[in-house]
Amino acid sequence: MENKKELRNWLDAYNLDHPLVIGGPCSAETEEQVVKIAHQLKDSDATVLRAGIWKPRTRPGNFEGVGALGLKWLQRAKEETGMKIATEVANPHHVELALEHGVDVLWIGARSTVSPFIVQDIADACKGIDNPVLIKNPINPDLSLWLGAVERFYTADVKNLGVIHRGFSTYEKTKYRNIPEWQIPIDLQNRFPDLPLILDPSHIAGRRDLIFDLSQTALDLNFDGLIVETHYDPDNAWSDAAQQITPDTLIQHMKDLKIRKEVG
Ligand code: PEP
Ligand code: MN
Repeated sequence: MENKKELRNWLDAYNLDHPLVIGGPCSAETEEQVVKIAHQLKDSDATVLRAGIWKPRTRPGNFEGVGALGLKWLQRAKEETGMKIATEVANPHHVELALEHGVDVLWIGARSTVSPFIVQDIADACKGIDNPVLIKNPINPDLSLWLGAVERFYTADVKNLGVIHRGFSTYEKTKYRNIPEWQIPIDLQNRFPDLPLILDPSHIAGRRDLIFDLSQTALDLNFDGLIVETHYDPDNAWSDAAQQITPDTLIQHMKDLKIRKEVG
């Protein structure tokens, strides 16, 4: 990874591996669930635990997250396992609460990235922080909107930025929940070669049997990490059940994936 050394300074600063592996449930459901999954992942390649506590859902009536209460559960998981913790922030208040509770990595969801005023508000709330902030692509295949969000965070002096490719909405029926349109993240990487690029195969796939191949494609394309939804009882997860895999499956995937050690 010699020629990309500088861009990964923040991975080193946070003592994070390359590729960076983030695992954990779509949603924090109960304290026991969060802590149990953290223990199942703690000795694996996944060094960061993800769990959504504020869940912007496309349609009302679905589970919208446990809210701030979940921060304590994440904190306990961190204390017990030593894993870093990550959650989605969708407004400045979320940022403030997450930072107060020791959340290490913040991510901006695909439904927030579409909205420049929201992105600006969140970026302002993050001003000058050292915590890694990962910006998901907007749900629509619009590179400019994604770039615009990255620029707003750069301008707010958030230095440890990364981006997450989670696929794009389409009205067509495809095998994917969100089509990968690989050219878009590749174009973004060409524009911002110093930005760590992470794949979210879970939200692209929408079904667990596609996760492995998507992950391999991303690693072959020189992505810098994976964020994978992981639950000990995927079928009964409170959100995104069809696409979650067990911690054991994630551990097995990390053994089976071919990881490039060199960048050409
Ligand atoms: C998630 O990570 O659980 C999520 C809601 O993702 P996205 O914003 O990519 O839809
Ligand atoms: Mn999800």
